Amino acid sequence: MLRLESTHTQALPDPTLHFYTRCGAKSLTRQDNVKSIIIVGGGIIGLATAWQLAKRGFSVRLFDRGQAGRQASWAAAGMLSQQIELRPGYETLMPLLRQSAAMWPGFAAQLEAESGRPVNYRTCGTLVPALNDDELRQLRHNYRYLQSLTPKLAIEWVDGEAMRSLCPLLARTVRGGLVSTHDHQVDNRLVVQALVVVLRKVDVELFEHTAVSELLLDGDCCRGIVAGGRRVLADHTIVAAGAWSRQLGGLPPESLPPVRPVKGQVLALEIPSVCQPLTHVITSTKTYLAPKGNRLIVGATVEEEGFDTSITSGGLMDLLFGAYQLMPGTREWRVAETWAGLRPGTYDNEPIFGASGIAGLTYATGHYRNGILLAPITACKVAEYVATGTLPTELANYTLARFSPPSPQPPQLTDAATSGAGKPGTLAKSIEGATQ
Ligand SMILES: Cc1cc2nc3c(=O)[nH]c(=O)nc-3n(C[C@H](O)[C@H](O)[C@H](O)COP(=O)(O)OP(=O)(O)OC[C@H]3O[C@@H](n4cnc5c(N)ncnc54)[C@H](O)[C@@H]3O)c2cc1C
Repeated sequence: MLRLESTHTQALPDPTLHFYTRCGAKSLTRQDNVKSIIIVGGGIIGLATAWQLAKRGFSVRLFDRGQAGRQASWAAAGMLSQQIELRPGYETLMPLLRQSAAMWPGFAAQLEAESGRPVNYRTCGTLVPALNDDELRQLRHNYRYLQSLTPKLAIEWVDGEAMRSLCPLLARTVRGGLVSTHDHQVDNRLVVQALVVVLRKVDVELFEHTAVSELLLDGDCCRGIVAGGRRVLADHTIVAAGAWSRQLGGLPPESLPPVRPVKGQVLALEIPSVCQPLTHVITSTKTYLAPKGNRLIVGATVEEEGFDTSITSGGLMDLLFGAYQLMPGTREWRVAETWAGLRPGTYDNEPIFGASGIAGLTYATGHYRNGILLAPITACKVAEYVATGTLPTELANYTLARFSPPSPQPPQLTDAATSGAGKPGTLAKSIEGATQ
């Protein structure tokens, strides 16, 4: 049997059932034939799912090839944008986004209580200012679209003066815009750190710096993995390897999830102590600004560059210019950090949950731009699926089966693809903002 050094060795305390209740689970029963679980990938999705499974009494081992929580889940801006980023064509995802957003207060409270760590869940809302006539027209059009959706969204139109009263550092050129009171935020870095702490308390074995090279298949059944060159067996395996979910060996092509990496460059500015505290997330057509304590996160490019995560002058220039247009004062602020992360995007940029076509193998991947927002519902419902063997209705539209007949390769960037990044079926390089 495999022996690996687990990062965590603490004993199992009594699990609290509080978050279960919020998830709507009726009981803590589990499939008798599923007892041990392997999770491949320790981003927010793998960590949160491990937490929920352990609380259901499963024996969980989680493998990450690096430090847990340090890929996309670390690179993200922590925006929980359930409303403001909705666009025509994306309505199908709306119920899932809204349900997960509704779970965030309970998820954050439970995580803070069990880990003893803050995650800085903030309910100040999001502002979408228009800086010129073009943006004003575009935003009004978008407002009418958002107003047409049911159930009704908590979004209102305000003039420039009202917008600046909410955030005095905004440019004087702001003409008006949207205030979305239900688009909240969290500090995603604190969340993954708290999840790592909480996994100790529920006796999850976390193997960091241990790459999973292959899934072990026995006919049509997954029996476990090969990690660090050794076989590890389990009753059930969950792939939550983010942008790398398609890279695991051992699977037939038709069972590989069509996940591709979508690069995002981000930077953080130091908010000078003389400035009033920033509270709201601010998004525009070009960029978004997300305050995290004394740092302002400025994001993010959307680039089809494969697994490249280099920082480019063009990327930084676009981000800095976008920030300057929204808040001219940022020109004087210090750059605290720059980084890039890889979003796990699918063909339709919606996530993949549940059956893989291989017994004993489940997917929880492809969360693209919404993985932080979707973490609570993913963790809760994927755990429910493993426990009961029945895919919860909330996840039913997001199985791998929707991509059949499968394509052998994820989409590639072509020279012709120069616009419409992030929209279904289109690939491009751009800056992500509220109105894309
Ligand atoms: C710039 C940027 C900004 C974003 N902003 C937001 C936002 O504001 N709000 C939001 O909701 N979402 C946002 N996202 C999206 C969000 O970050 C992702 O959807 C989410 O983090 C995906 O989580 P994950 O756990 O699937 O992937 P990851 O966090 O990437 O974790 C995957 C893990 O799997 C591990 N792994 C991979 N292959 C293997 C292997 N073979 N063996 C073992 N381990 C392996 C990796 O090391 C990694 O730790 C943003 C993303 C980026 C890049």
